[in-house]
Amino acid sequence: MTPRFWAAGTLVVLLAGLAVFVMTAVPWQRAPAPRADQLAALEQLPADQVARARSFHGELRPGNYLGLTLGLLVALALGLTPIGARLVELAGRPFGDHWLARAVLGGLAVVLVAELVTLPLAIWRHTIVVRYGISTQTWSGWGVDLLKSYVVGAVIGGLTLAGFFTVTHFAPRWWWAFGAAGAAGLVVLLSFVLPVLVEPIFNRFTPMPDGPLRTELLALAERDGVPVRDVLVADASRRTRAVNAYVSGLGPTRRIVVYDTMLTEATPEEVVSVTAHELGHAKDNDVLTGTIMGALGAAAAVIALYLLGSWGWLLRLAGVDSIGEPRAIGLLLAMTTVAGLVAGPAQAFVSRRVEARADHHALMLTGDPETFEAMQRRLGSVNLADPDPPHWEHAMFASHPSTVQRMAAARAFARGAR
Ligand SMILES: [Zn+2]
Repeated sequence: MTPRFWAAGTLVVLLAGLAVFVMTAVPWQRAPAPRADQLAALEQLPADQVARARSFHGELRPGNYLGLTLGLLVALALGLTPIGARLVELAGRPFGDHWLARAVLGGLAVVLVAELVTLPLAIWRHTIVVRYGISTQTWSGWGVDLLKSYVVGAVIGGLTLAGFFTVTHFAPRWWWAFGAAGAAGLVVLLSFVLPVLVEPIFNRFTPMPDGPLRTELLALAERDGVPVRDVLVADASRRTRAVNAYVSGLGPTRRIVVYDTMLTEATPEEVVSVTAHELGHAKDNDVLTGTIMGALGAAAAVIALYLLGSWGWLLRLAGVDSIGEPRAIGLLLAMTTVAGLVAGPAQAFVSRRVEARADHHALMLTGDPETFEAMQRRLGSVNLADPDPPHWEHAMFASHPSTVQRMAAARAFARGAR
């Protein structure tokens, strides 16, 4: 039996495993609250606030779609023509065309080209978020953040490229098996490592100071039966006015993080409501669920790349002999970009259902739908979220239920429709 046969069999098993896991782990029953409640909630939002949010998103929209389109076109140009292969050759030339130099430097060069092409759109976006008062960052602060993210991406990407092409180099027939295991392992590792090693590069985290709020939040976690190591405050105010909170890490690295902007913009009761939502994520192990889905998906993706990569037509377009050689990095980028665009709406759908479950947890834990609704209104107005975005845009991209959906969920809860 050939490696291809085993690869196809493993892919089927992984996809079946992913399907079963997604079916059982995702709270499918958390559909949005009735549309009538949503429209009633929308009616009560100040008209000028809704108009301002809509004009903000209207201004962002062209750049967003142009960015998606350009990113796709560049990836296709690098992958479905010999341009990507040529770029990788050039990057490896000073190092005697060594395969490792081609893998790491060639890979980073290909990604950098894709980044630079969309950079003007990121600049355009920044001018808009500054004008609407969401971002408080100067150009130098923004530039430093961008450079930091390039460096972090280069380190993680460089190590990944080196690992991947070392495996394809030394196991040309079976690299997909090691690659799949490695990709899954990388997803799990990053899930532990990112909050501890990478988040502090961008923000300073300090334990929430002692006081009635901290005491109440820890008591809330205790009552919920969720082990929380700490409640941290991130100094988000140095780049944004937006308010947010999140839970990250697994097991010993798990922590609840509240933006410092939240402590100045929201009432203590609203901070409790948001924290209750985050505790819901911890209680339902949403980080772990996401990590398992990501690991299974990454392993399946590597095998799918291997199988697709034996398609002679694709290889000829890219001007390469094998998908396992560094010169094929452009082709890999093209295939992963297309896969990402296709998988995005499915991921967003799953995310919205998981978020709706955490909202329900917050309502159950606090028993306070009024504050929950006030908090959603606050989140929407401070962050300039479109309270009721166009349906298809919401379906394609939204990671959370819309403001009116979340307000409506609180209303339905208050009526006793649980
Ligand atoms: Zn959430």
